[in-house]
Formats: sequence, structure tokens, C-alpha cells
Amino acid sequence: MSKQRFSFEFFPTKTEAGHEKLLATAKELAGYKPEFFSCTYGAGGSTRDRTLNTVLQLDKDTGIPTAPHLSCVGDSKQELRELLNLYKDNGIKRIVALRGDLPSGMGMANGELRYANELVEFIREETGNHFFIEVAAYPEMHPQARNFEDDLQNFVRKVQAGANSAITQYFFNADCYFYFVDRVRRLGVDIPIVPGIMPITNYSKLARFSDACGAELPRWIRKQLEAYGDDSDSIQAFGTETISKMCEQLLQGGAPGLHFYTLNQSIPSLAIWNNLQLSQRQ
Ligand code: FAD
Repeated sequence: MSKQRFSFEFFPTKTEAGHEKLLATAKELAGYKPEFFSCTYGAGGSTRDRTLNTVLQLDKDTGIPTAPHLSCVGDSKQELRELLNLYKDNGIKRIVALRGDLPSGMGMANGELRYANELVEFIREETGNHFFIEVAAYPEMHPQARNFEDDLQNFVRKVQAGANSAITQYFFNADCYFYFVDRVRRLGVDIPIVPGIMPITNYSKLARFSDACGAELPRWIRKQLEAYGDDSDSIQAFGTETISKMCEQLLQGGAPGLHFYTLNQSIPSLAIWNNLQLSQRQ
């Protein structure tokens, strides 16, 4: 089996205690030698400084290349340009380029770019080939897309604008991933499309989040999690087993790697990692 790529995603925290916990998590995960870490960005610039500082610190302190997420929907071109230059000057080479979701009522804020394909184009105009650009993919369709075909075409636009690779929204059904990859391959897309993996740790949060981002939580998983109630050990055990099986199916079926949405916790992702012996596959 060819070498596969694994990565871990974090979010920047608001408190000093949260930041310390994040650093400890990242240092632990760095020991597994992932290809990169990434750190999310609050659309509209709400985490601009925190994302920047977290990325630079993780990159330096853990030795794992760390990619900032950057969303365009609420930032002016000048704000985006400044951030890109700061990252470039600090040796950051990978970036996750997104449209983002502004909090309701914020309009476009300062935003001049409307969609992620315009951001990818802007990054290429401003910085040439300096950055390896990741974009988002939606095997179950982006929740605001008019229809699946439209969404596929919009994904292709991001690739044509210069994206090097894609990370998917999470899902709990490997078939939708294989179908999406097959469809975009037929449209001429040949970049790697890495499944985004959400470990299962908490039913109510997961259900709320999945509804919001358009990820389908299958009925059999919902029912099982409902039945566990507050029994977090059983939820964790069931989640690890279920997600590990899906990851195995994905990797066996040709997925080029996995990107873990860690929510700043190491244990749930590592339980899957160890189950699948991922250290031996990279
Ligand atoms: P786009 O690719 O621009 O697509 C958004 C919608 O517009 C889709 O419905 C698409 O079909 C449509 N569309 C796209 N291009 C066009 C066009 N040219 N004309 C007309 N319609 C178009 N959000 C954050 O705020 N911060 C983060 O750090 C963050 N990280 C993420 C990481 C990953 C791996 C993923 C999968 C998502 C992440 N998100 C993040 C969420 C993301 O910002 C939202 O899903 C957002 O709604 C869409 O972003 P996008 O980059 O996919 O947008």
C-alpha cells in the first residue's frame, strides 16, 4: 500500500488554560509524526490574531508544519494580503482556503471575495506557488448548494483556481466519499481528496453540529448513542469502533489519508489511530 498522509486539526482557544491544553495535545500528537497540523479561523476575522499566534507557535514548538485556515467571506483583500505575507515571512507553506460562514446578521462584513475559488485565485495572484493550498469538499453536498451537480462544479472551480488538495467535511458513510471522488475524477479533478474524520465523543453536540454543517448522522448511530445516555465510556468505545471501521474501509478503498477533527483532544483521535496502526502506514 502506498504511503498515506495523516493530519490533525485544532481550533484556537479563548483562554490561557485552553491554550495550554491545546499545546499539550499538539505536543502529544506530534509524537505520531503527522504530515501537518491545521488551525481554524473564525470567519470575519474573529480569531485572526489567535489563529496566527497558534499556528506560529505550534509550527515552532512541535516541529510539525502547521497550516492556518483562512476564510475570505468577512475579510478585506488588504487584511487577507497582510495575513498571507505574515505566514509567508514566517515560513508557513500550507494553507486551508475557505469561504467561511459569517455569524448571522454580519452581512459580508469587510469581505470582497465571495467564494473559496476566488480566495484560491487571490492567494495564487499574491503569492504565486508559495503555498500548498487545501480546500474543502462536501461528499454529502454543501448545505447551501442549489443541488449536488452545482456543488460538484463549484468544487471543480476551486481546483481549477489552483488548489493542490482537498479535505472533506466529515461524514459517517464511506459510500458518499467514494461516490464524490468518482464524480469529480470524471470531471477531470486529480488532486488528493482526504476524508475529514470526526471522532464520536458526545451525542448532543455531535447531533447539533451535524445538523448545522449538513453531515448526516445515520439513524442507527443516533439510536445507539441515544441509548447510551450519559455513559461516556460506552459512547467512546462505540465511536472508536464505528469510526475505525469506516476509516479502514476508506483507506482500503483508496483514500489518500485521513484528517482528524480533534476538537483539541488527543484521546479520541489516537484511539482510532492506534486501532488502525496508522503509524505503520505513513
Ligand atoms: P465554497 O467552496 O465557496 O462553497 C460555499 C457554497 O457556495 C457552496 O454551496 C458552493 O456550492 C457555492 N459556491 C462555491 N463557489 C461558487 C461560485 N463561484 N458561484 C456560486 N456558488 C458557489 N469555516 C470557518 O469559518 N473557519 C474554518 O477554519 C473552517 N475550516 C473548515 C475546514 C474544512 C476541512 C471544512 C470542510 C470546512 C471548514 N469550515 C470552516 C467550514 C466552511 O467555511 C463552510 O462549510 C462554508 O459554508 C463553506 O466554505 P467553502 O470554502 O467550502 O465555500
